[in-house]
Amino acid sequence: MSPSEEARKAERDAEKARKFAEQQRLADQLNSLLTRIGEPTVAVTIHPLWALFSESYPAYLQSPEWGEIRRRVLKRDGSLCRLCLAKAQCVHHISYDEPVIIGERDEDLISLCDACHASIEFDGTRQRSVEEKLIVLRERLGTR
Ligand SMILES: [Zn+2]
Repeated sequence: MSPSEEARKAERDAEKARKFAEQQRLADQLNSLLTRIGEPTVAVTIHPLWALFSESYPAYLQSPEWGEIRRRVLKRDGSLCRLCLAKAQCVHHISYDEPVIIGERDEDLISLCDACHASIEFDGTRQRSVEEKLIVLRERLGTR
């Protein structure tokens, strides 16, 4: 991995760690309330696909579950790039939120051709941040 890729991975990992910590904190609060009123406590369960994504993005992309999400999105878009209507080769993440990752929010996934995907991901040779990609994509779509 290049230094910039490593920095981005570290950023993503830190974001995931924050989300896990927040889930745990909320579960602890809920459990302390449940204990106070004498009700059984709940276990925090993390969706297996979210756990896989958190562990390794490449492993997530190789999972049969992502394969199914990807096929579903390509089918929805008629296998056409939503930006230029060429044949789509990839499904791009508009967001990496848990519902998107576990396949419960396909609106934040979009079929793109390789050329358009590269034009969203990169500004020349520099890879854009998630926020920058979103701005560029929205401009190109002319919506949202
Ligand atoms: Zn395209």
